[in-house]
Amino acid sequence: MVPGMGHCDIHATLERAGLSKTSQRVAVLTALVHAETPLSARDILERVSGEGRINRVTVYRILASFKAGGIIRELATDHGENFFEMACRHNPAHPHFYCRSCRSLACLPSAGNQERWIREYREADEAIETVAIHFTGLCRRCRSENAGHPVRRLRGPRGDRRVSP
Ligand SMILES: [Zn+2]
Ligand SMILES: [Zn+2]
Ligand SMILES: [Zn+2]
Repeated sequence: MVPGMGHCDIHATLERAGLSKTSQRVAVLTALVHAETPLSARDILERVSGEGRINRVTVYRILASFKAGGIIRELATDHGENFFEMACRHNPAHPHFYCRSCRSLACLPSAGNQERWIREYREADEAIETVAIHFTGLCRRCRSENAGHPVRRLRGPRGDRRVSP
């Protein structure tokens, strides 16, 4: 999420995506709208568990409907636990940093390249719809924890550009 850019109205967003306003959808969307970092289904389940009968399957089903409605984007990781974040004007596409040690995913500021790449590939007549740029390495916290064990050699962050169709 880009801080200080406001956020979408929950009800208007559901309406625009043609989704009825169930309390469960409202709870999941509220969690996503107010999240500072991308959330996994597990994170979301933790945040909405106070909202009555909602289980993992329901959260996955709601996330699938949000994705189909263009409300959120799904961010894939190497270990199979994907993350989700809002896909709206308050949160334009940007690169992400994935820590291979603590398996956290952080948003990075856009370097401005994404728009250029989309433009250039479009000119090359490819039907690009989404771009996902994903860096992998060790986050600051894991790096300092590892610094106490100099025997273990650390690999530098591996730039890993992914362009999904
Ligand atoms: Zn928004
Ligand atoms: Zn980490
Ligand atoms: Zn992000």
